[in-house]
Amino acid sequence: MRALEEKILKEGKVLGDDVLKVGAFLNQRLDVRFLMEMADEVVRLFDGVAIDKVLTVEASGIAFAVCVAHKLNVPAVYAKKGGAANVSGDTYSAEIYSFTHKASNTVVVTKEYLERGERVLIVDDFLANGAALNGLIDIVGQADAYVAGCAIAIEKGFQRGGDKLRAAGYKVESLAIIDEMSSSDIKFRG
Ligand code: 5GP
Repeated sequence: MRALEEKILKEGKVLGDDVLKVGAFLNQRLDVRFLMEMADEVVRLFDGVAIDKVLTVEASGIAFAVCVAHKLNVPAVYAKKGGAANVSGDTYSAEIYSFTHKASNTVVVTKEYLERGERVLIVDDFLANGAALNGLIDIVGQADAYVAGCAIAIEKGFQRGGDKLRAAGYKVESLAIIDEMSSSDIKFRG
């Protein structure tokens, strides 16, 4: 999505070798009108794919996921971080290693919010190594639901998580894919 690439170039900041900060429009200050345009693009990319629900993980995926769910006219569910182990048996859970925080989190979804047989679109703000998506895919499997696909705002292609998921057969659509980045330049996949 050209407009997203331009926005990243204008408002994004590269930290170190591999972290892109987009707090200016996606992660902290929310450019809601623009997020809605991004959601329109997701709807276009998943035209013809049946979707019953959107699933993301807190916190930074929620804003974009809500916009996508609104445009698809389906509910959005987010996996909560720091959930207790599944003692009461009423949650699905997965361990997700956070690339940005360099620590593992247990994330949980209350069982009644994901139904057997539902077709779930997984949405997130970033795709890097794929840990977050793999954790969410695992949760969808625990619910005996289906992964309809994965919709991502920004994929860092050089971290390969997206390519692995595509090779495993998932429909992964990212609105911008960064193949190389440094503090002075960002190169997008053609
Ligand atoms: P993965 O699990 O694919 O390695 O990383 C994706 C998750 O880590 C996303 O949920 C996102 O919140 C966070 N993340 C990964 N890379 C970046 C980045 O460069 N910038 C920001 N803001 N978040 C990132």
